[in-house]
Amino acid sequence: MTTAGERALPGSTLPGATLPESADLVIIGGGMVGVTLALLLAQRLPQLRVVLLEATRFPVFQPGQPLPYTPGFDARNTALSRRTIQTFTDLGLWPQLQPHATPIRQIHVSDRGHFGISRLSAEEEQVESFGQVMENAWLGVVLLAALRQCPSVTLCDGVDVTALQVVGEHAEVTLRTTGGEHVLCAPLAVAADGTQSRSRDWLGLQASWRDYGQTALVTTVATSLPHEQVAYERFTSDGPIALLPLPDEARSGESAQPAQTRRSLVWALSTAEAERVQQLSDAEFMAELQQAFGRRAGRFTRVGRRHAYPLQLMVAQQQVVPRALILGNAAHSLHPVAGQGFNLCVRDALVLVERLADAVAAGGDIGDAALLRAYEAARREDQRQIIRFSDSLVRGFSSANPLLSLLRNVGLLGFDLLPGAKPALARYAMGLNHV
Ligand SMILES: Cc1cc2nc3c(=O)[nH]c(=O)nc-3n(C[C@H](O)[C@H](O)[C@H](O)COP(=O)(O)OP(=O)(O)OC[C@H]3O[C@@H](n4cnc5c(N)ncnc54)[C@H](O)[C@@H]3O)c2cc1C
Repeated sequence: MTTAGERALPGSTLPGATLPESADLVIIGGGMVGVTLALLLAQRLPQLRVVLLEATRFPVFQPGQPLPYTPGFDARNTALSRRTIQTFTDLGLWPQLQPHATPIRQIHVSDRGHFGISRLSAEEEQVESFGQVMENAWLGVVLLAALRQCPSVTLCDGVDVTALQVVGEHAEVTLRTTGGEHVLCAPLAVAADGTQSRSRDWLGLQASWRDYGQTALVTTVATSLPHEQVAYERFTSDGPIALLPLPDEARSGESAQPAQTRRSLVWALSTAEAERVQQLSDAEFMAELQQAFGRRAGRFTRVGRRHAYPLQLMVAQQQVVPRALILGNAAHSLHPVAGQGFNLCVRDALVLVERLADAVAAGGDIGDAALLRAYEAARREDQRQIIRFSDSLVRGFSSANPLLSLLRNVGLLGFDLLPGAKPALARYAMGLNHV
């Protein structure tokens, strides 16, 4: 029912949803990070009235139908670290997510044309797995279904935020719906509107960019050999190739693949090469992939639709202003080589929610500048380490410099032999390095 001061919200998928004029906290962007933050807030701080604004419409999943894609929950697959899995477990969502996930029990790193190879085994590291891989679209189905059940969160999709500014003691968010323009005020706005965040510009936050000159081709492939829960990372002179295990397709009948042969492929290539490879027929694509990846997974027998993602490093130099902050890819967007982007954002969101909970418990102001600066400072070291780690990995392995090549191969060989090196990398892969 619409109450005084509220308008019917034509774009929303929530029946009867209304667009309020004020909230305690507004989230701009309903991608993986915005939605995860909303779920964390609903659990930890249910007394806060949260409004989540998303530009696209969230589809409702019909069992038996193809998985729906949105810009935030798309054709990619994500390697969820153990810390992220723990977060979804604490939210009570892992039982719904797990049937769509596959554990990584071994990590195999190699360098094409060189002799260095490293293997990490979960058993040796005495962990159940290094993490689990799942399709982003499945994450969307489960997380959005859960969010629709949270009474403290108003989910407004199909609304485009067109301005964000700080006015006195409020963040003022202007948005456009099919019903016209609307202004929403809150003591705190969190912008999780992606790498090209317009909120970052509206708030005057500067960012530094590094174009890697690479594009990632993302697709699902099938192989003649079962994946046996092994994740491969192969470095080539063009860029890294990641091949991750995926759950079997939930289909029956003739089209079903043999068990454990579905894998997620992320193939980073120079942008010109990616454009060429994108145009190849499926058979030509698999032949070139076979050439670049080798035979460790057997033959590539099937390839799905290919999607292209330009790769860059974007780091905001400042992430907070009084009454607003940027989160997720809006704050830092990394090369996917180490599978760390989303996992890092989840750790940011966890710390943010704890800081907000402390403020609420003390009767304080959640948009207070000192509180937001303290959050930013608390996250600086983890972010710096992960950004440096993934950037060095890309640049170290892309270099044609023979000395670097030798060093990295010695590094890879030494890595198998050096006590302490493996567990350290394993901890990075598991997202357990900093919490
Ligand atoms: C190929 C690839 C593979 C990856 N693999 C991994 C992995 O294995 N592990 C890992 O941890 N990370 C991985 N990542 C990183 C991960 O995908 C990102 O960190 C994550 O998607 C960031 O989500 P986000 O919600 O911040 O941004 P986005 O997904 O970009 O979402 C932003 C949302 O904001 C909405 N929006 C934008 N502007 C507005 C507006 N004005 N008004 C309203 N809404 C707006 C958009 O519609 C969108 O839904 C990978 C990235 C790539 C490119």
